[in-house]
Amino acid sequence: MSVGTLPLLTPGDLSSDREVRWCPGCGDFSILAQLKRVLATLGVPRENFVFVSGAGCASRLPYYLSTYGFQGSCGRAPALATGVKLASPNLDVWVVTGDGDALSVGSNHLIHALRRNVDLKILLFNNEVHGRSRGQASPTTRVGTCTKTSPEGAFETPLRPLSIALAAEASFVARTIDVDVNHLGDVLERAAAHRGAALVEVYQNCKIYNDGAFDYATDASIKAETVIHLEHGRPLLFGKDRNQGLRLNGFEPEVVTLGHGITIDDILIHDEKATEPTLAFLLSRLIGPHFPECLGVFRSVQRPTFQQLLDDSFRQGDPPSSLASLLAGDDSWVVA
Ligand code: SF4
Repeated sequence: MSVGTLPLLTPGDLSSDREVRWCPGCGDFSILAQLKRVLATLGVPRENFVFVSGAGCASRLPYYLSTYGFQGSCGRAPALATGVKLASPNLDVWVVTGDGDALSVGSNHLIHALRRNVDLKILLFNNEVHGRSRGQASPTTRVGTCTKTSPEGAFETPLRPLSIALAAEASFVARTIDVDVNHLGDVLERAAAHRGAALVEVYQNCKIYNDGAFDYATDASIKAETVIHLEHGRPLLFGKDRNQGLRLNGFEPEVVTLGHGITIDDILIHDEKATEPTLAFLLSRLIGPHFPECLGVFRSVQRPTFQQLLDDSFRQGDPPSSLASLLAGDDSWVVA
């Protein structure tokens, strides 16, 4: 029976028998639920999914899926997943990581998986705090946030995961949020369909150590003013009346209100397919309170995957070879 004729799974088919041990109210529950819903629709047998994680609360996720999974050491999930994907290209390989895991000791592994365009789906649960190790400031903790290691308020400049991903030439870059389940599901579907490295940052509420960090983006009374939903080919408008927008003033973004000489033609148009990620990078840097933050797909372009480039490289060798034959055979590389 081909994959195309397999009956679709249900989300329940993807649940493991392990007790889910995140704290009550943790945003991880919502992400897990949407992930199972999306995976069930992909027409992929569950034994073809592999979830690789590192350390931290997010990294428990592979235990809760009835798929193959592997929990490695802190920050190493992208490297481990790269090995899985290269050895078994037909598998659908996902990485689950958090801000502490991916952006501290793991930052180089993440960057190189992205620049190589390894065909991995990387979910970065960003709660802007170290949750599993009990509430220390993480690389993404915003300035002024009080944590156990920053009782007077964090003062270090936080990393911006999507800016890093774009600087690493990632071919798919997106952001969504745990409680907006429709948006979360849509973004996961887009990532699943992408061929190459897909990085999805999920704003995830840590109920215990950083509760409410993303209230500005979820509170129905204000989120229209604080969030822009990116739509390819559409102007970057926001606001309850969609009468505010972003335009460029020289090289600087600027919030303007339509009217009084400002027209829709002044507003930047979102282009997730742009060859150069310049606009996506600019959008990835927007942060409140002076700017709305963007949710959606920042960049989605096609370029050769690491596997394709590797295969080409082996084919052009003398004699032509392949990674599969190297892994299966007695040959060894000689490094000059
Ligand atoms: S510590 Fe925070 S991130 Fe970890 S399970 Fe609890 S609520 Fe979730």
